Amino acid sequence: MLIARRTAILCISLTLSLTAAAQNQPSPLAYYVKEAAPVLVLEHVRVIDGTGSAPQEDMRIDIASGKITAVQPASAHVPYPPNAKVLNMTGKTVIPGLVGMHEHLFYPTPQQPNGGVSFYGEAADSAPRLYLAGGVTTARTAGSVEPYTDLELKREIDAGSLPGPKLDVTGPYLEGKGRFVIQMHMLADADDAARTVDYWAAEGVTSFKAYNYLTADELKAAIDHAHAHGLKITGHLCSIGFRQAATLGIDNLEHGLAVDTEFFPGKKPDECPGLLPNLAYLEKSVEVEGPEVREMIRDLVAHHVAITSTLAIFESLGSNRPPMDRESAALKTLSPQAAKEYLLGRAQVAEQDLGGPMLPKEMKFEREFVAAGGLLMAGCDPTGYGGVVPGFGDQRNIELLVEAGFSPVEAIRIASLNGALYMGRDASIGSIAPGKAADLVVLGGNPAEKIENIEKVELVFKDGIGFDSAKLIRSATELVGLR
Ligand SMILES: [Zn+2]
Repeated sequence: MLIARRTAILCISLTLSLTAAAQNQPSPLAYYVKEAAPVLVLEHVRVIDGTGSAPQEDMRIDIASGKITAVQPASAHVPYPPNAKVLNMTGKTVIPGLVGMHEHLFYPTPQQPNGGVSFYGEAADSAPRLYLAGGVTTARTAGSVEPYTDLELKREIDAGSLPGPKLDVTGPYLEGKGRFVIQMHMLADADDAARTVDYWAAEGVTSFKAYNYLTADELKAAIDHAHAHGLKITGHLCSIGFRQAATLGIDNLEHGLAVDTEFFPGKKPDECPGLLPNLAYLEKSVEVEGPEVREMIRDLVAHHVAITSTLAIFESLGSNRPPMDRESAALKTLSPQAAKEYLLGRAQVAEQDLGGPMLPKEMKFEREFVAAGGLLMAGCDPTGYGGVVPGFGDQRNIELLVEAGFSPVEAIRIASLNGALYMGRDASIGSIAPGKAADLVVLGGNPAEKIENIEKVELVFKDGIGFDSAKLIRSATELVGLR
């Protein structure tokens, strides 16, 4: 008893001294934080507010306790709030923190030895910090290979122990019979789909993703159970076409036309014709202006099904894209092995040009979808053969949306406010307005003039805390593909 009591006392005093030490210690994020003043004024900034409005020159943004309190012209000379730290930001542009909707926390693992097991490596260290460094302050993980790890990462990030965006953790891939990485559990039937959704909703995931080989019955069960928990479900489907998924009640479809199988000749119900055969058919025989695609777009819009643009990953299937000289910053974050694998994959793709012809078609589809009133969002999707790196991939996606024909401010809206609208979180994130969280990206240039300036991230504010983008990126040097 005595021993037990002494142990208990020891434990208590140890806990107390640890707590005291923790209180005296700087935040584990201190090294990455450049601005932490509770009251801040960003003076003389150009504001691109995320709504698609034209840039506003010479503005002032006031921040207090993590929230935006005022957005007004600097010329109004309103007195600064008491105790405000004023940052003169002449020449800088402020955009809303990006809301990334396809932001996996994993990265391709080198396919070695030949015939080895296919799996993705969880990127617990590199992904969260690179998303944040790239300006992504909110991220939906859009399919998880380690859902418990993703949930724990969210807890640590929210507690301020790790750098990273606010996470909407998506459950494990809801996959049917067939899969391409071993981490995907193959659902047995509709009951299994329902049970899996219920389990992970109880564990704390806040969204779901249906995958390639699900049957219509399984998808229906997953949709109904996700909705019963008040959660949304997206899909990268193959065995089920877009219109059928819309009828079943799905909320969102990933990637766009490039993965819709409903036009494939002889498509059988609940059967996936394969990504590449379908892609080849779409490239050759399906026109975005044609009646079938128009009808599909109308149907998705009528059912309020959003689309997530992932142009950066599609671009990587084309020859010599993106230009090699644009790749240097992202390449420095790859482990030597991952860099080698990426460059090898890139050389092979350059010969085959698998997705090259599809890219302009996909771009046109996304324009038509928006023109028809559809909600288009954006995400990085760091998969394929590598090279699409968290954060960098999100920026590249915005550049490709501009190449698709969207104006820079529209492209920024697609990558910020639209994701917030989809998640029903537009009252607190997604654009720059008083009352919203101070989730802001400070750019050393004007992306409305030249969209590549979206890469000139200097500071990323999350709830009013300003993170040094360059330090976050340096901390992930040669980490991607490793951890
Ligand atoms: Zn994905």
